[in-house]
Amino acid sequence: MSDTIFHKIIRREIPADVVYEDEHLIAFRDIAPQAPVHVLFVPKTDIATLNELQLDQAAIVGRLAHAAAQYAKREGFAEDGYRIVMNCNGHGGQTVFQLHLHLLAGAQLGRFGT
Ligand code: 5GP
Repeated sequence: MSDTIFHKIIRREIPADVVYEDEHLIAFRDIAPQAPVHVLFVPKTDIATLNELQLDQAAIVGRLAHAAAQYAKREGFAEDGYRIVMNCNGHGGQTVFQLHLHLLAGAQLGRFGT
């Protein structure tokens, strides 16, 4: 297994505010939230960036998105809405090189771009 900060969280070597976990993925609150709700959904399979995702691993991204939507419904903000984001490499702003999906919610979010 790789050794990013997220792998340490998966292995429970460092603490995190975990909101959901199953055999495929873990979800925990971002340490520096960019919205009132900011949760990271991280697969337990080693995948550094979206560029490394193989076709036979595509269901992993589906699981992350599904888990995020289930969380939004469970927490009661699905109807108000939310945003999911996946950053890739430098221009995408990726800083942790284990694939992850950001779930942002809880306020009207601004438009995005440069
Ligand atoms: P990226 O920039 O790679 O798309 O997203 C990485 C995210 O991980 C950032 O939003 C950052 O705040 C968050 N993060 C970095 N280190 C930690 C940590 O130790 N714990 C938690 N919960 N989040 C972290």
